[in-house]
Amino acid sequence: MSGANDADAVRQAKIELAAALRWASRLGYQSGVCNHFSVAVPGQPDLMLINPEGYFWSEARVSDIVIAAHDGRIVSGNGHTVETTAFSIHAPIHRLLPQAVAVLHTHMHHATAICMRKDGTVSPSYLSAMSFYQRIAYDRGFDGPALTPAEGERLARLIGDDFILMMENHGPLVVGASIGEALLRLIYLEDTCRMQLLAEAGGHALQPIPARMMEAIPRDVPRFKAYAKGFMVAVVRSLTREEPDFLT
Ligand SMILES: [Zn+2]
Repeated sequence: MSGANDADAVRQAKIELAAALRWASRLGYQSGVCNHFSVAVPGQPDLMLINPEGYFWSEARVSDIVIAAHDGRIVSGNGHTVETTAFSIHAPIHRLLPQAVAVLHTHMHHATAICMRKDGTVSPSYLSAMSFYQRIAYDRGFDGPALTPAEGERLARLIGDDFILMMENHGPLVVGASIGEALLRLIYLEDTCRMQLLAEAGGHALQPIPARMMEAIPRDVPRFKAYAKGFMVAVVRSLTREEPDFLT
């Protein structure tokens, strides 16, 4: 790509990242001012775009997005810092899994509730989540807060070519080939876990989708990818109308 095209692509990625943060905030996915959404810088995969330390996702603006190297170096000059777990969780995943263009981590309530259960698993029982049921990895080895790159490397190995990591005693992490794919998957995951908890209430057993149907699903579901693209356009369009300061 030319320099001008690179700059346009970086600007677009910042717009989508700021929009994704605001959208996730509307859905109640942030706890305190914690957790990160990150995306590889277009054309420079050794750098990532990420939200700044100490800000609510609802405040995210294009000019607030930080460009950081995987080793913790801050490249952007907007004066913001980045909280340390971004470099112990997100950076190693970007470095080791280039297909994980976008990496989203939250402690959103219903998915985290599944992570808190002994041997908790996401039941493959809901049609709209069939694109990811067979792409969920589980971390059954909670080892405290992720404070070193070695922990992120361990998580990256667990994810492999999956899309979702459910971390025991902690919460979910979702990756995607674009911000839109990762955000839509994150929303589907939270919806699915919420519905699972509702359906299981009172001790009811769930009806799993037949294995032959699950096995027939391709790794990347074209319909999901196309839908995610339209979804991201709709998110940016809505926020441009309702919260236009996110573009500043
Ligand atoms: Zn966390």
